[in-house]
Amino acid sequence: MGQVEEHEDAAREQFDAVVVGAGFAGMYMLHRLRLLGLSARVYEAGDGVGGTWFWNRYPGARCDIPSMEYSYQFSDELQQEWEWSERYATQPEILKYANHVADRFNLWPDMQFNTRVMAAEYQASPGTWLVTLAHEGTTERVEARFVVMATGCLSVPNMPSIEGLDKFAGALYHTGTWPREGVDLTSKRVGVIGTGSSAIQSIPLMAAQATSVEVFQRTPNYSVPAHNAPLDPDYVADIKSRYSEYRAENWQRGFGADFRDSERSAFDVTDAERTAEYEDRWARGGLAFLAAFADLPFDDAANATAQAFIREKIAGRVDDPDLAAKLTPSTPVGCKRLCVDTDYYETFNEPHVSLVDLNETPITRVTATAIETADHTHEVDVIVLATGFDAMTGAVSKIDVRGPQGTLNDKWAQGPRAYLGLATAGFPNLFLVTGPGSPSVLSNMLPSIEQHVEWIADCIGYMEQHQLSSIEADLEAEDNWIAHVNEVADTSIYPKCNSWYLGANVEGKSRVFMPYLGVPPYLEKCADVVARGYDGFTLSN
Ligand code: FAD
Ligand code: NAP
Repeated sequence: MGQVEEHEDAAREQFDAVVVGAGFAGMYMLHRLRLLGLSARVYEAGDGVGGTWFWNRYPGARCDIPSMEYSYQFSDELQQEWEWSERYATQPEILKYANHVADRFNLWPDMQFNTRVMAAEYQASPGTWLVTLAHEGTTERVEARFVVMATGCLSVPNMPSIEGLDKFAGALYHTGTWPREGVDLTSKRVGVIGTGSSAIQSIPLMAAQATSVEVFQRTPNYSVPAHNAPLDPDYVADIKSRYSEYRAENWQRGFGADFRDSERSAFDVTDAERTAEYEDRWARGGLAFLAAFADLPFDDAANATAQAFIREKIAGRVDDPDLAAKLTPSTPVGCKRLCVDTDYYETFNEPHVSLVDLNETPITRVTATAIETADHTHEVDVIVLATGFDAMTGAVSKIDVRGPQGTLNDKWAQGPRAYLGLATAGFPNLFLVTGPGSPSVLSNMLPSIEQHVEWIADCIGYMEQHQLSSIEADLEAEDNWIAHVNEVADTSIYPKCNSWYLGANVEGKSRVFMPYLGVPPYLEKCADVVARGYDGFTLSN
């Protein structure tokens, strides 16, 4: 393997399960596997726990699901004792929480860091996975009966292929791999490429430090204000007094989060009532804006009312009308993930912040000192790539997964195929957490992660109890599920934009709608599959 030295241990380590990734999914998976009395090892490429919150340390990084909901619920003691400080927790606070969980549940001894899983090959006899690890310049193999990919939906940075980017002599950062020690942008001229959630969170803070910030925008995004604030102790006490009921209520909501979902259509009300509803949600802030009316994600005309409202707000927040127009999307609200900001649009009123509309003047190349567009050379000291991720499939595809009939990358060449986002036909005893076809990124992800992990753990527990050694998704069940995922998506606005939900942000990636829209029906389906003796799976010994 090139310069990598290979050690083939005579006595190869064996586990019941190997878990790839030490984000919230991998950590909880380990905890549940241990509760089953199984041996498990988590391998993590980074040198700490937290996944997303370990890597994304850019200024302003924080969750946009309220902290009281963006947290584990499997342990009532944990959710009672942990104190979030703000409505939307910052990256450092979420990372501290992840470390607290690892301490509290003593996860450290079974996690190995700085170790990348390179390959997983199924051995028909004895029916185990041979897992290849790269660690400090060496490779090693371990064996496991089960492999769980807890590799994250947004964990592989999308690096744009811009000519000359590798020749840039200044500092180059991607928001998704921001340096741990932070970056001092004082006296720096900064060019930011991208205007998604990461850019929208970080641009106001970068502008507060830098000499100049030029934002290179390919597609504008809708953003609603966060109105972040310290948490009100009365609100916290109220939620904590009924935490499990609150969580149970949220499982019944479309996105699995408390967006105060309305059951009304945008046309059940008068124009004045509709505007009042939007104003109320705008004033309270956050993603709940999208749940103002039940048909916003499904009906073009209903959605158009929300678009019009936000467009007017952007016009009110940006002084220069031409600039406001450039910052205003023309797409349905929500078909690209809605952003949540603090002073994003207002930042463009500052004299040292400017927008470069790449539709008018595309980037032609990057030189040692500048980003060149069709009509201008933009001299910069720092380039920030806020260009997102190879979402949902990126991390799994980087692992050479070989099942009895071939590789996963061959199987997924025309787009990912998985049953319930939990398993994929042809790959026995391999589980995915929040894989393609699960609600994952169209939900509050932490509860979704817990639900997936619990489903997988219960399934393995069932197999242990019934002395079953193999489980594999059936192709027909998988095909039917994918057809259903698409059928539901096609009733919605989601396929109408070039979003990362469709893989449209990565050059050459197949255009397939990946997440499943609807937490409650998904939960019902998962429970039904179990009730029918793992319907759609083949179990054997
Ligand atoms: P991750 O946290 O991505 O962890 C996966 C881990 O696997 C990573 O540490 C990675 O290094 C490791 N890994 C991957 N491949 C390998 C390999 N081959 N070998 C070894 N290790 C590997 N969701 C919400 O619901 N609400 C939010 O407000 C929210 N905010 C977000 C903000 C940002 C900036 C980003 C990027 C995402 C956000 N998300 C949010 C989504 C977030 O990814 C999930 O909420 C959650 O943290 C995912 O946890 P995970 O464990 O599944 O994956
Ligand atoms: P993103 O939403 O995919 O945004 C990437 C941006 O980069 C887009 O504006 C994209 O333009 C642009 N881009 C990509 N390649 C480009 C190129 N070659 N040239 C010019 N522009 C290019 O990524 P993200 O902002 O990192 O967010 C990803 C997801 O992570 C979010 O949707 C969300 O789920 C999560 N997240 C959440 C929060 C939060 O608030 N809690 C914060 C950050 C991230 P196009 O739109 O034209 O492709």
